[in-house]
Amino acid sequence: MQTETYILLHRMIDAATTEHDVKIVLRRFHEIVDTKRDGTTKEDLFDAAWAFCCLGGLYTSLGEPLLAEWSYLESIRLFDKNDMATNAATLSVSLAKLLAAQGRLVDAETQLKQNVEYLMKQWGINSNQVYSAEEELKHFQRTGEIINACQHVWCRACDVDDYGVGFDAEGR
Ligand SMILES: [Zn+2]
Repeated sequence: MQTETYILLHRMIDAATTEHDVKIVLRRFHEIVDTKRDGTTKEDLFDAAWAFCCLGGLYTSLGEPLLAEWSYLESIRLFDKNDMATNAATLSVSLAKLLAAQGRLVDAETQLKQNVEYLMKQWGINSNQVYSAEEELKHFQRTGEIINACQHVWCRACDVDDYGVGFDAEGR
């Protein structure tokens, strides 16, 4: 699709305020998905992955978590298939947050593990990106929270104490 088309479609999402409008926007994105998802070109796969990602956001805002989850999973799959593992990784974290908010911690953990896998694919096992993703996974496994853990300098759960203040300071 042309750049203008992406912009126009994004504007449609922003402008849709009534149920009627939202249904039209949903139909438009489903049309894109239907015509592009089995495409053979990188452009088709990107369009389908992008449209699925937009559908995920739309269904989230409509309070349809299962349809949002399905859309994000399809988007992740197609981005990965299209050699865009970084996009797949970013979306895996978004989906993990969505699942964690529903109390589905095991499924959220699966997505955070996927995030590590996709980043390994893109950047290699010894990259900072993979290290950060592993920190996030570890912190989540210990606390059930997603916090951008690579930036934490003090965390009892992860035994991170970069300032050397110790773990007794908390209650003082
Ligand atoms: Zn931590």
